[in-house]
Parts: sequence; C-alpha cells; structure tokens
Amino acid sequence: MEKVWKKHYPDHLKSEIEIPELATTDMLQQTIKKFGDHKAIHFYGREMTYKELGKQAEAFASRLQEDGVSKGDRVALMLPNCPQYVISYYGILQAGGTVTQVNPMLVGGELEYILNDSGAKTIVIYKPLLPVLNQIIDQTDVEKVIQVSLGDETTEDDLAVEFTDYIKQASNPPNPVGIDPEEDIAVLQYTGGTTGRSKGAMLTHRNIVTNTIQAYEFFKDEIEIGNERSLTVIPLFHVFGMTSGMNLSVYTAAMNIILPKFEIEEVLQTIKNLKPTSFPGVPTMYVALNSHPKAEEYGLDSIKICNSGSAPMPGELMRSFEAKTGAKILEGYGLTEASPTTHCNPMFSKRKPGSIGIGVPSTDYKVVDLSDGTTEVPYGETGELIIKGPQVMKGYWNMPEETADTLRDGWLYTGDLARMDEDGYAYIVDRKKDMIIASGYNVYPRDVEEVLYEHPAVQEAVVVGVPDEYRGETVKAVLVLNEGQSTTEEEIIAYCREHLAAYKIPRMVDFREELPKTNVGKILRRKVREEMA
Ligand code: AMP
Repeated sequence: MEKVWKKHYPDHLKSEIEIPELATTDMLQQTIKKFGDHKAIHFYGREMTYKELGKQAEAFASRLQEDGVSKGDRVALMLPNCPQYVISYYGILQAGGTVTQVNPMLVGGELEYILNDSGAKTIVIYKPLLPVLNQIIDQTDVEKVIQVSLGDETTEDDLAVEFTDYIKQASNPPNPVGIDPEEDIAVLQYTGGTTGRSKGAMLTHRNIVTNTIQAYEFFKDEIEIGNERSLTVIPLFHVFGMTSGMNLSVYTAAMNIILPKFEIEEVLQTIKNLKPTSFPGVPTMYVALNSHPKAEEYGLDSIKICNSGSAPMPGELMRSFEAKTGAKILEGYGLTEASPTTHCNPMFSKRKPGSIGIGVPSTDYKVVDLSDGTTEVPYGETGELIIKGPQVMKGYWNMPEETADTLRDGWLYTGDLARMDEDGYAYIVDRKKDMIIASGYNVYPRDVEEVLYEHPAVQEAVVVGVPDEYRGETVKAVLVLNEGQSTTEEEIIAYCREHLAAYKIPRMVDFREELPKTNVGKILRRKVREEMA
C-alpha cells in the first residue's frame, strides 16, 4: 500500500532522515560542547549544568571501570527519577556498560528474575530499597551495590557504598570504549512483550539515538535547542521516560525538571514556578490536571507540547484540557521494542483525536491480516500493527525464539490491533496481547496469575483489566477456590501485596464456581473480560 502518511510532512521536515553514527553518550558530549553552562537538571531547587552532569557521569564511568565493568557488562539501575539517574545512565554507557533498567517498585522474585536474567553484577539502587534487594541478593550474582540517598531515607545498611562517595574517589578519566552504535547494546529494557514472560529488549545505541532524533525532528518546529524546559514526571526507568523525558532533553540541551512522583499539587506548583515548555505524560496525569478545580490558576500555558503515550487518550479529555490550559496534547504511540516512539499526531498537520497519528520520520508501518501476518488489510479494517524502522530493537536478550516470533522479516509485530484511515493515520482498536494498562503502568496478567496460583486456597485464577474512569483500566482477579477452602477479597489483596509491585495488585477480586473454558480446557480470558465490561 502507498505510504500515504508521508504526504503530511511539509518540505522542511523530512519523512526520511539520516541517522548519524553516534553512541548515546555522544548526544551528551555534543550538548556539553555547545551548551555546557546551560542548566541540565532541576531537582527540588538544586540545579546542575551540562558540564557538571558530564563531569559526574565521567567520574562514575571511571569508577565503574576501576571496579571491573567493561564493554557489554550489565549494570542495573533501580532508582526513582532523580539527578543520579541521569548521571548513572550516562556514566554506565561511558564505561561501555549496558544499562539494565529496573522498575523500583519490583519486589522479591520479580527483581531476582531481572538481575539473574541480565546477569548484572553491579546495581545502583535507591537506599530505601536495600531491604528489598537484600532479601534476594544471595540468589543473584550481584557483587557491588551503590546506594543513592535523596535525603528522605531511614534505612541503614552497610552493604552499599554511597553514590556521592563512590564518584568522589575517581582519579583518572575513564578509558575510551569503542562503540559500534548498530551492534552494541546500550539498554536492556524489560517488558512483558506480547506474551507476558519478562524479556530484556536489547536497545542498541543506534536505536536510542535514532528515536531521540526522530522525536526531535517530528517536533522541530516547536523546539528551540538550548531554550526548552521539560517536566519529567514519567518514570525514567520506563522507555517513554528514558527517551522523551531524559534523552530528548539532553539532545535539545533543555533543562530537565525532574520529579520522582506525580503529586498533583507539587506538579502544578512546579509548572507555575518553573514554566516548563513540554510535559510528556500518560493520560491519567492529564485527567488529574484537567479535573483539578484550580488548574488554570497555575498558568499551564507555558507548556507547548504534552506528548501523551502509553495508553489511549480520550478525545473529550483532550478537548477539555486544551480549552482549559492552552497546552496542546499530542497523542503518540510506541512500545519498548521500538525505543519506544513510532507514531504521533503531528503539530505540522491535522491532529486526529482518537488516533495515534502518523509514523515518526523513517518509520514504516502496515496493518496486516491476523490470519497470515503479511497481507495488508484495506483502509478502515482491523489487523495487527507492524512496524519497521531504525528504532526497532535488536531482539530479546537470550531469547531467540521470542525474538523470531516478534521480529519477522525486519518487521516488529506489536501485538496491537489497529486500523488505518485513508490519510495514513493509525488507530489502536484493541490488544492482541493480554496486557492491562492501569494508570499508564503495564500489567501482564500472567505475572499476577502466577502469584495467585501459589495461594493455597486458589484452584484457578484469571486476571483481566476492567474499564476504570480514572485509571483507564484496573486489575481484577477472578478466582475459583479449592474445595473446602475459603478466603476473602481483602486477604487475597494483602497476599498479593507481599509478592507483587503495587501497581500489579488486583483492586477487585471475584469468586466463581467455575471459569469459562475452551473445549481443551484453556481459560477464556477474553470471555471473562467481556463479562466484566
Ligand atoms: P511499553 O512496552 O511498556 O511501552 O507498552 C507498549 C504498549 O502500550 C503498546 O504495545 C500498546 O499496547 C500500549 N500503548 C502505547 N501507547 C498507546 C496509545 N496511545 N494508545 C493505546 N495503547 C497504547
């Protein structure tokens, strides 16, 4: 089919761009050269210039090398948003390592799995999370623990060396490491992918640099290099925060205003005081701003771009938010396996509410028939969205079969059902994969079900997403209990709290005599989901 979306690009913005052969750290070096004295990070009143950021990242790289980290070694990063995140990320890369991003909400077996799968021997961790690490550290290969204190912690632990002390000890600059941007893995980004088994998406330096430049090129008319301020509340450990919050700020020499959590009053106050020009977010954040009775009084109109991703953006919310604030919401789409952005509604052409927009530069996409996975379906009909582009991952870490399943003939099979209109705009219709998106967090039912099945009273469990006005979806467990056993919704929720990250815990539990099944006995998750809806 003709690539109709390309016609929306005006002459001065190209639908195909050249990607420079850069390592991720080169983006920082370029910015330091031109804008070294510009503010790179603002964190609760403390600021750091690009030069200082570069120096600290270099010191961290040098210490890691002295401790034996060499090219390709995985270093885990388990931090909330904070300046040390950015320093560590760029430091690990400069040392030649691979950043293994770990969601700081993970507990127990979830964390153990990622540390073992990646083989990380070093971890940079937020100090209050040390007890979580200590529970499983003996079952992993982790040898070196570097703790980050943000001044709000009470945990005492002597396992770890403090981040600031660690980098102070650096005496020599790090040894240069030759990076092949196309081959070398910058980041292992864990995701449930389409099946729910946690996999490390291997994002190369080229993938990451490309996606940053693709986003920049797409918003170029709105961005003045060296003169922007981005408000980053979306988590940096997630690929959306990494690219749209951190790397895009570095590439455009913006001041990155970092907040670790979305607390509505704090966000509004920060917007009022620091006047960010961009605010990447997930729909629930915009819902919260939109429904705040005094949002207008904080003057949200400094924000030019709210790029919304991770979950569908309701059209009505978009209209009401824009009328209230003057900011523009641009719904985009992406996934871990594409570093992540592949689509966005353009500022330079029509925006279509309900649509994820058109491909970012140098991105090709098709909607294909589910039965063969290759035949394109006519405009308006639903099929699986598949994507090709330089931002698409190299594959899954140590998982050749899953890789072959997801990357076929150079196309990334997204597991999302979509349709395309005659203008080339894509619309996400549903998910082929089972994933639930609750408040922008992805929850893979299988992760939750595995924990539920370990509960002594549970015979069968199915976990589904049910529509929720605020969260988009919320997690619900439907259980069949073993004969003679009894338990309660509260008890199941309390049990899940011990074994699962907070965002995965079911908020509702239903008990049934039986679950709908196929004639071979497979639980019909879709049927349960439909009943709930
Ligand atoms: P992740 O790998 O965590 O970035 O999650 C990617 C998944 O989030 C996609 O495959 C979609 O299922 C979902 N997603 C991302 N953006 C949107 C959007 N704008 N509308 C609907 N679903 C989205």
